[in-house]
Amino acid sequence: MEKTILQQITERPMTTQQVTPDIFLLQFPLVNAFMVGDPNNQNKEWVLIGAGMAHTSKDIFQAAEGRFGQGSQPKAIILTHGHFDHVGAITELTNTWNVPVYAHAYELPYLTGQMDYPPADPSVDKGLIARISPTFPHKGINLGTRAAPLPADGSVPWMPGWQWIHTPGHSPGHVSLFRDSDRVLIVGDAFTTLKQESATSVLTREKEVHGPPAYFTTDWQAAEQSVQVLNELNPSLVIPSHGLPMGGEELKQQLSELAHNFVHLAVPEQGQYVGQPAPNS
Ligand SMILES: [Zn+2]
Ligand SMILES: [Zn+2]
Repeated sequence: MEKTILQQITERPMTTQQVTPDIFLLQFPLVNAFMVGDPNNQNKEWVLIGAGMAHTSKDIFQAAEGRFGQGSQPKAIILTHGHFDHVGAITELTNTWNVPVYAHAYELPYLTGQMDYPPADPSVDKGLIARISPTFPHKGINLGTRAAPLPADGSVPWMPGWQWIHTPGHSPGHVSLFRDSDRVLIVGDAFTTLKQESATSVLTREKEVHGPPAYFTTDWQAAEQSVQVLNELNPSLVIPSHGLPMGGEELKQQLSELAHNFVHLAVPEQGQYVGQPAPNS
């Protein structure tokens, strides 16, 4: 029997890609995570950004050992936000790695069992992933005292030269990470380089700048401002959580277009949070 498009997506094995000498991309069926740190540095210090989907810890452990050596563990896990596809393996990971998990202070209630995210809104798009999004978990997780706020001075623990930038809209405490020296942007879900609502786009990983995954975005006005802030940074390379890395003229043009025509290009025509943000967002 021919496999459905969802089976083709979810049964896809993890793939990896070295993006820069110190950024290593882990591609899961629906989301990316990253290891940041240069394995050629003597200290071999690194951090994990994002914690994949549920049951991906084995893949992540293997990738970590493959890149940084047996028994290697990161100095910290850094989250751009706490949606299910970014924290799926975090409990399994931190049960083995005794490391802190950093996120924006506004995201901590969802990581310490105090709040749940609003449920996904399937009405934002006709794409298959949007339609099945109500099955995606939206409950907060509880990392207890392991969860810590990102430093107030904008620095990123164990990532010298990087700064975090508050880019709310997709979630209240969403952050993107930017390195000024080479203008590399780890954008999280503030925008994507595929159409995450569409299964075909997720399967083929089309390379095109799109707005944040719409079914989970709860404040569209904030999301628009965040994209404008990121566009102003003029990134040379963007590494998204959904889609493939993109750079050069292609990125510049498409990101500028998204920033200037956000309402037309990214905001759904209808949706629960269109025109009225979710409470607490
Ligand atoms: Zn998200
Ligand atoms: Zn996501």
